[in-house]
Parts: sequence; structure tokens; C-alpha cells
Amino acid sequence: MSHVMNTYARLPVAFSHGKGSRLTDTEGKTYLDALSGIAVNTLGHNHPALVAAISAQAARLLHSSNIYQMPQQERLADKLTELSGMEDVFFCNSGCEANEAAIKLARFYGHQQGVDNPAIIVMEHSFHGRTLATLSATGSRKVQAGFEPLVAGFVRVPFNDLEAVRVIGGHNKNVVAVMLEIVQGEGGIHVADPEYLRGLRKLCDENAWLLICDEVQCGMGRMGTWFGFQQAGIHPDVATLAKGLAGGVPIGACLAAGKAAGLFHPGNHGSTFGGNQLATTAALTTLEVVEKENLLDNATSVGKIIRDGLAQALSEVPGVVGVRGQGLIIGIELDRPCGDLVRLALDAGLLINVTAERVVRLLPSLNFSADEGRELVERLSALIRSFLSS
Ligand SMILES: *Cc1c(COP(=O)(O)O)cnc(C)c1O
Repeated sequence: MSHVMNTYARLPVAFSHGKGSRLTDTEGKTYLDALSGIAVNTLGHNHPALVAAISAQAARLLHSSNIYQMPQQERLADKLTELSGMEDVFFCNSGCEANEAAIKLARFYGHQQGVDNPAIIVMEHSFHGRTLATLSATGSRKVQAGFEPLVAGFVRVPFNDLEAVRVIGGHNKNVVAVMLEIVQGEGGIHVADPEYLRGLRKLCDENAWLLICDEVQCGMGRMGTWFGFQQAGIHPDVATLAKGLAGGVPIGACLAAGKAAGLFHPGNHGSTFGGNQLATTAALTTLEVVEKENLLDNATSVGKIIRDGLAQALSEVPGVVGVRGQGLIIGIELDRPCGDLVRLALDAGLLINVTAERVVRLLPSLNFSADEGRELVERLSALIRSFLSS
């Protein structure tokens, strides 16, 4: 019997090594990886530059604590603010922690504005993590059930509905922020309409609310721009990153700008591991390789190959509702629950995921090649066709 707590329904496979977007299991079977560890392995597996940078840093210094100066953290903050147009960065170790920092920032900001019970508007079908505050912000009863009492201070509205935000904000004088994903990943690959995002930006400005973008899944170049909000040409007040930021080494980041920047002072927030030398070196190298290898353009072009290819291959197939996404965050919605497809794909040597019960989710590495894109289309569309006709 396993002594690991039973929190995951794991598939019966263990991997021994990988190269690029190919993984090999402990029996020697190889797989095409279209999930990249849930948007974590930005550069695929075993990228030589990342391996070299991590190895060299490990041989020098893994961790010194935030009690001391950390030049790597300074450099990473410089790089992230340059790429995002944000102003300052708090480093932590995961997506939920990045969102915790964002939620604390919003409350802190509210109190400074004289709001004693600050509230944050959040979205239906959102996912922000599994800590108590972030599961309370999450728009899924499944994630919350059994963990009540929830953290107070969240008000929920439908996604992509500007009027709903306007109405709630008009009634509730405690609102200090709006928090959303640019693409709802766990919720089924729902992309925020750029017009909606521009409207939200304006509404937040008019009311002095913070606009918080959770880019834990869709950020780090996945949409073909460094940040998802750049697709709509807006600037949020707070943005969070994690998953793909360090190419597989745990890290999280909460970026702030304008009225959200410079709010925290020593004693307001912290993290033992946050932004240590190993993690920040891995992130700096990941960002460098994304730039050097032109992976934003690759995400755009290979994403289009995959989406167009799937749309064409599945256009006449009954049971396929639609293909959507942007760059390399892609969903294929079916008209029925399709969790079984994950196992069928695994048996066929293909790593995919299903979310929101009926949406096949693809999150390939940013260096997924055009050929791998076409291979994925061919193998996955055949699997979906046979699944739907059985
Ligand atoms: C995965 C995810 C999180 C949570 O990240 P963890 O590292 O698992 O805590 C938060 N927000 C979004 C949008 C995510 O996709």
C-alpha cells in the first residue's frame, strides 16, 4: 500500500527520462508529450541550456534565504518587469502562493483606501489554486466542497460579462479588485474576449479597483505573447505567474504596477524558499532560451497549425463541439464526458489531458515543432474519432 496521501487519480505509468517533447517510461515505451507537465516544461524535457544552468548553480549555491541579498532574484525581477511593463515582483514557489500574494495585495490596498471589508470580484469556472483563499476564489464547487467555511471577501460573476461586473461593483461598495484568468485553463479553455478585457480595464480605472490577471497557466509565452493580457493591449495592476516560469523548477511570482506597486513593506509578506538561487537561475535561463529560440513566434505558428489542423480533421465529426484557444493553450470540446480519452491516448503513446469533463486540453511545450504539431493532429483526431464512434 502506498504511503503517499491519496490526492491524485494517477495513471499507471512512470517516466524515466525525456528529450524535447518525447518522454520514455520505465518500460522503454515512448510518448509524444502534448501536456508538458501541465504547462510547466516550457522548453520541453532536458533542454541542454537549462540543464547546464541548473547544474552549475547547484554546484555553487542552492539557497541562501531572503535574509540576504539575492542578485539572481534582482535580475529576474528586472527581466520580468521589462517584459511585462509591471513595476515590482514578489517571488514564491507556486501558482496558489502567487495568487495568495495578489489577494493579500488587494486587501492591503483596500484597507489603505479606507475599505474595512475589501471584496474581490472573481469569475464562474475560474481556477486559482487549492489553498483556502485561492479555493474560495475558485469558481468550482468541486474544489471547495468539504472545506467550508470558505474565506470571505469574494463575489462571483459570469466570465466574459462586463455588465455583470458593472452591476455588482455598483451595488457593493467593498469591491477593491477584479481577478480573472485571460484563458480559463482548468475551466475548459475559455478565452477572455479582448473587448471585455479592455472594458474591465476601463471599469477598474473608473472605480480605482485593481485588475488582477492570473497568468499561472496562460502566461510565460504560451499565448504567443509573454503575457496573455498583452493580447488585448491592456496593463493589469497585478499579474501572477508560476507553472512554466522556470521550465520545471518550482517558482511563483506576483507582479504589481501603478497603485499596486510598492505597497508591501518588510513584515507584510514573505516566503522561506521564494525566489531562491536555484529557482531564479532556472527562470532566467528559461526566459533567455524562449527569447533566443524565438519561442513566442513558435507558440503562435505551431498553435495555429494544431488548432486549424484539428478543426479541419474534426469538422464533420458528430460529437465535436469546437476547437478553441490561442497559441499553445488549446481545448477541444466534445458533447459528452471524455475522461476515458486520456487513458486511450496514453495507451497509444500520447500525453493529453481532459478538463471540465468534456474538454480535451493540450498544453505542449513552447518548442513543440511544426512536425510534432502535425503528428499530434493526426494521432489525436484519429483517437477522438474512434472514441466518439464507439
Ligand atoms: C495551476 C493554476 C494555479 C495553481 O497553481 P499551483 O502551482 O498548483 O498552486 C492557479 N491558477 C491557475 C490559472 C492555474 O492554472
